[in-house]
Amino acid sequence: MDRSRNQFVSNASHELKTPLSTIKILIETLIYQDPMDPGMTKEFLGNINSEIDRLNGIISDLLSLVSIDSGEMRLKREKFRLDDMVRDCTRKLAPLARERGIELEETVRDAVEITADKSKLMQVVYNVIDNAIKYTPRAGSVHVDMARAGKRAVIRISDTGIGIPEEDQKHIFDRFYRVDKARSRETGGTGLGLSIVKQIVMLHNGTISVNSEVGKGSTFTIELPL
Ligand code: ADP
Repeated sequence: MDRSRNQFVSNASHELKTPLSTIKILIETLIYQDPMDPGMTKEFLGNINSEIDRLNGIISDLLSLVSIDSGEMRLKREKFRLDDMVRDCTRKLAPLARERGIELEETVRDAVEITADKSKLMQVVYNVIDNAIKYTPRAGSVHVDMARAGKRAVIRISDTGIGIPEEDQKHIFDRFYRVDKARSRETGGTGLGLSIVKQIVMLHNGTISVNSEVGKGSTFTIELPL
């Protein structure tokens, strides 16, 4: 195996080990701690369940990366309304935003028809909005804007969140890269989301860029040819 592949396997294993160790600790506590009150037991089982969801998420991300790398990721192109898709993503994430005390609003300026892979582009927009919510403290806001600019569609996702230091901005689309490891793990991040997002956008001949200031917020801009 070459060095980068070794690095990939090592990073991937590390990511899988984290939730596994948590599950192990929780289960051992359940086994050896007696008597445990039913409320506590239920809470532990709930935590184990969340860690399993997380393992599943990491594995799906890893499988996506492998399929991109092997050139096997095929786009299933279909004609659809991009504006409806963006509205759909915002609607799906509204409950999460509400739960986190974040105002999520959208401005869809134009009706835009595109021929592209709908579910993969949905994954892109969903992921970037999800990050915007995750990295914005309570009482902040996330704004999703979509418009047509000549032969391109431009989707802009801005937040009033923690922002990304200048020196990290060029790395956030790299695999496994996290700005603040502890904080990102806390929010359930793997550092894989944006690398997959970028690959999908590139497969569509589009671009994704970030503009950010620490403490003020970030804006991600996705441009797709029509
Ligand atoms: P993760 O799963 O850790 O969120 P991503 O690949 O989606 O991984 O993002 C990479 C890193 O970029 C994150 O760990 C986080 O540090 C940073 N990041 C992404 N989106 C935002 C945002 N909207 N605001 C601040 N930081 C962000």
